[in-house]
Amino acid sequence: MNTITFTIERFDPETDPAPHTETYTVDINEGARVLHALHAVREQCDPTLSYRYCCMSGQCGSCAVRVNGEPVLACMHEAYDGMAVAPLNLPVERDLAVEMKSYLQDLAGITPGIFTGYLTMEANEAIRPIRDCIECLACVSECPAVAVTTFAGPTAMRQEMRIALDPRDDRDRAALSVDEGLFTCTTCQRCLEVCPKHIAIPGKAIEKLREIAHREGLTLPKHQTVAEMVRATGRSVDRIMPTVLEQVPEVIEPLDEVKGEVGFFVGCMYNGRLPDTALKMLAVLRRNGIRVIIPPEQVCCGSPLIRTGQTEYIRELKRINIGCFVDRGIETVLTMCAGCGSTLKNDYDTPFRVMDINELLDEYGVEPPASSSVPMTYHDPCHLRRGQGVTEEPRALLRKLTDDFREMPARCCGAGGGVRSGLPDEAADLGRDRRDAIAETGAAVVVTSCPFCEFHIGEHSDVPVINITTLLFEGYEAKDEASGEDSGWKDLPCRDAE
Ligand code: SF4
Repeated sequence: MNTITFTIERFDPETDPAPHTETYTVDINEGARVLHALHAVREQCDPTLSYRYCCMSGQCGSCAVRVNGEPVLACMHEAYDGMAVAPLNLPVERDLAVEMKSYLQDLAGITPGIFTGYLTMEANEAIRPIRDCIECLACVSECPAVAVTTFAGPTAMRQEMRIALDPRDDRDRAALSVDEGLFTCTTCQRCLEVCPKHIAIPGKAIEKLREIAHREGLTLPKHQTVAEMVRATGRSVDRIMPTVLEQVPEVIEPLDEVKGEVGFFVGCMYNGRLPDTALKMLAVLRRNGIRVIIPPEQVCCGSPLIRTGQTEYIRELKRINIGCFVDRGIETVLTMCAGCGSTLKNDYDTPFRVMDINELLDEYGVEPPASSSVPMTYHDPCHLRRGQGVTEEPRALLRKLTDDFREMPARCCGAGGGVRSGLPDEAADLGRDRRDAIAETGAAVVVTSCPFCEFHIGEHSDVPVINITTLLFEGYEAKDEASGEDSGWKDLPCRDAE
């Protein structure tokens, strides 16, 4: 037997003015699950505790709760001393039991009409990745779009796509999904992160429904404009200043010994909107011994098109982008935009390795910069954290840059999935949520590693937002200033000088 002490968030909306936390000490067996600990509370401490459960084997989805802020199935998650158990982020009926009926009763069902065929093996296989839902609502409870719009939620979109693939159904599922908020999804992948069945709703349902919607002419006008620009110019943003590709030569040699070589995929935002950030990153690599090759013929990775379902031009973008690095024999391609990195890693099939800048700096190691005592927090870009699994590397780097690093919960800023361009009011609501989370940390600087997050959070927060490589650049400047040395590492060669 183990004795554990843990907390439960209790709330009876009929009698309590607000939720409150109670602490319990119970005896449970070795390896007992959270659900067993809840049973023990009822048996040993308080028989009034309310929670839901049924199958006790991870199949019914009724016992989902949050443990230390993360949704889990109580019957599958091991209980431990010090855990904090709370209800899902949904309206509470009582204690850990949340209101589920209104979400579940709206899930679509097949609507048979005129006979359109039988379910084939092929259709069945296509449905397989999205049919294992146990209706726990963990995805709905964590969805940023659900929090600020009337979006029906991730599992409703999963269900619409499942039925869209079923020939026995007679309704226009894409059109219905658009009405239910298909375009409000920021593709942040939080739903996938918390789903106990690992259902990839953004890629397997949202983006597929958006493809069908696109074929039916339902794409948002702002998204169509972006697609037209990519088709016409190869870029998703227009040119308003000298771009990175116009400013630097094809090869930038390091100052001293060559420790490594990468090809650089610049990305539309850094190329055309934040070129100084990219140039500072290149100077950092120059100082740290990395040779960088920058093929000038590279184009948009296609992320803005894939996320919005406009995929007919993607094959050509892939051909150009893969070809320009392969032609130069490049084995590792570097990205500094989280969205580009996620797209190259997950939507392309590349013969070369793709690395985010945080991974690269972590792998090669960097010269220590001057550290500061300025309180800093870090915003996890969704396409870096969930799209690429990169979370620890930027934190390790940040701890070299400040001795006062403060964590904040990872949550979408609202810029992704075409929401910033297509639905700016929703994007602004989520941006303000980030502002509040940043303010709670008391940090004086927000550090991130994605141009969309940088732009969007910068618009909504009073706290300055800075790219992690710019911070490293400034750390080297401070170091040089203190030592009185200047090796010329910042003086990148110009394209005209080639
Ligand atoms: Fe739960 Fe996953 Fe279904 Fe969402 S999609 S309700 S997280 S099982």
